[in-house]
Amino acid sequence: MKTLDIIVPVYNEEDCIEETFNRLCNVRNSLKDKLDTYFLFVNDGSRDSSIDILKKLSNENYFVKVIDFSRNFGHQIAVTAGLENTNADYVAIIDADLQDPPELIVDMYNKSLEGYDIVYGKRLKRENETVFKKVTAFGFYRVLNSLCNLDIPTDTGDFRFITKDVVQALKQMPEHNRFIRGMVPWVGFKSAPIEFNRDERFAGETHYPLKAMLKLAANGIFSFSLVPLKALNWIGIFLFILSLVALIKMNLLSATILFVASVQLFAMATLGAYIGRIYEEVLKRPLYIVKDKYNL
Ligand code: UDP
Ligand code: MG
Repeated sequence: MKTLDIIVPVYNEEDCIEETFNRLCNVRNSLKDKLDTYFLFVNDGSRDSSIDILKKLSNENYFVKVIDFSRNFGHQIAVTAGLENTNADYVAIIDADLQDPPELIVDMYNKSLEGYDIVYGKRLKRENETVFKKVTAFGFYRVLNSLCNLDIPTDTGDFRFITKDVVQALKQMPEHNRFIRGMVPWVGFKSAPIEFNRDERFAGETHYPLKAMLKLAANGIFSFSLVPLKALNWIGIFLFILSLVALIKMNLLSATILFVASVQLFAMATLGAYIGRIYEEVLKRPLYIVKDKYNL
């Protein structure tokens, strides 16, 4: 029988894990005639009792595998560790907080049988998320697609179902600044969406505060687009023309100086964003450190 690994990144989810486990067991049951399903929880340095609950579940159930990080490395890295530790025929990635309905994995599997290597969850509605999060998410996906030479699906998180071929391709991408929802379309293959309404969190709070969201957004743009770098040329040309105008109309001089100074700072910050990434890649540090593994 073919195998399915369901990767679940976990960070301080003690109030969600058991319910998530139960819902995933339903999925496992629905698929039991077709797939041998395992759950692969990646505990991303939780400070609560998440790891104790996961250890207990892995003791009681042979199909619960756990990777325990030595500290918090971030959501994208946790998913990466899951991908690197699977050899299953199919892999599903789902959040631990039940915002992505687990039952959809069954639909994703059925859709994949129509000949798709990637089936991704496309969010229709965001229940109870702040207006700010809705607006920034809406804007971000659209800006990203206009900057990147890639078809990154809009309103799509990491909730998806992929085949072994896709996992194999992703394993060949060692970059440190990871933006999985850009990396998956980058590897190609045939993909199809399944639409769903994103639910509220089952319990707890988001771990994506503004700072983490901005970091993810920057990784999306700087890792997949050279447009900001190229835009510097155009700003340069524009400034040159502006300085010719300033030569004729001297009263513009002080305004121009200020403007030029601000553009230069902006340009340096853009260069810095890329150079910082080069620096991180050059260090060649491991992406994460594993403290323990259970059933794995
Ligand atoms: N998560 C993680 N490491 C982190 C932050 C989050 O593994 O540093 C996990 C978290 O437990 C959840 C998923 O990533 O399963 C998505 O996080 P969250 O629900 O906080 O983000 P949101 O849905 O609000 O964007
Ligand atoms: Mg969530």
